[in-house]
Amino acid sequence: MFDRKDMQKIKIKLVTLGNLKYPVDFQFIKKWKSKIFSAEHLDQIQILPEMDGEKWSYTDKLLANLIKSDKNYDFTVGMINYRLEKNYYVRRVGKDLCMLSLYETAEIIHDANLTIENFIIRNLYEFCSIYLEYGRDASLVEYSVAHDETRSCLFDMCGNKADLVFSTARPRICEPCKARIMQSQLSNEFISNIEKELCRIRKSLYYRLTDFIKGNLILAITITSMSAILLSVIAKVIYDVFKSLLIPSLFQGEQQEKIQFLTPSQRQESLLKSE
Ligand SMILES: [Zn+2]
Repeated sequence: MFDRKDMQKIKIKLVTLGNLKYPVDFQFIKKWKSKIFSAEHLDQIQILPEMDGEKWSYTDKLLANLIKSDKNYDFTVGMINYRLEKNYYVRRVGKDLCMLSLYETAEIIHDANLTIENFIIRNLYEFCSIYLEYGRDASLVEYSVAHDETRSCLFDMCGNKADLVFSTARPRICEPCKARIMQSQLSNEFISNIEKELCRIRKSLYYRLTDFIKGNLILAITITSMSAILLSVIAKVIYDVFKSLLIPSLFQGEQQEKIQFLTPSQRQESLLKSE
């Protein structure tokens, strides 16, 4: 059983701010099977005010006034495709409010053949883990425990946003982070669940196959050649079975027709062969 603080599934409210510029399948996120959280997209703020921060960005203060916390949820995640303060892609803007920006990150994710849905889910796991680690305290759902080194870990700082590719393609929890979570007295079952669920964040089958072919070109060519040979052998066997069992009379008829056009000696020879 989970410990008390991680036995209840975390409820997350998703709110979109303005035009995200890329389609996001929120039903996919809602249907994501997790023992740790459930997330649903409930609100959308259509029109955004003018930007108030440096370099065409939104400040935490302005965003905090745009989205409201909802007591029916453990915390709310606002999604936006504009620059946040200091060009972070995650900002906590209120006690139980945080922002996730697709600014620059959406292009990085797309270029790596990953999906925005997986990127969002990967971040929700990070938020949930920190939320539980600090005793269900949403005010710490931020980047406070991140490490600078990129280890494909949920807690990679990703100061260079391009490094997000590693922890979105195959997210995991590195050993030091696992030890830190264990120290916070979350149950072993939580670690086991989150690791199992992170394994399900993968590229689509098409791009996994493409990656395999790129990385194993000789093996891929060998498999393709062997498959082609195997298919031709199977086709020949099917043809022979079809010919000998299913319509023998048709082939006998064909043979009779051929015999009619032979000379008597050729006809005799053909009949002997067929016997
Ligand atoms: Zn880590």
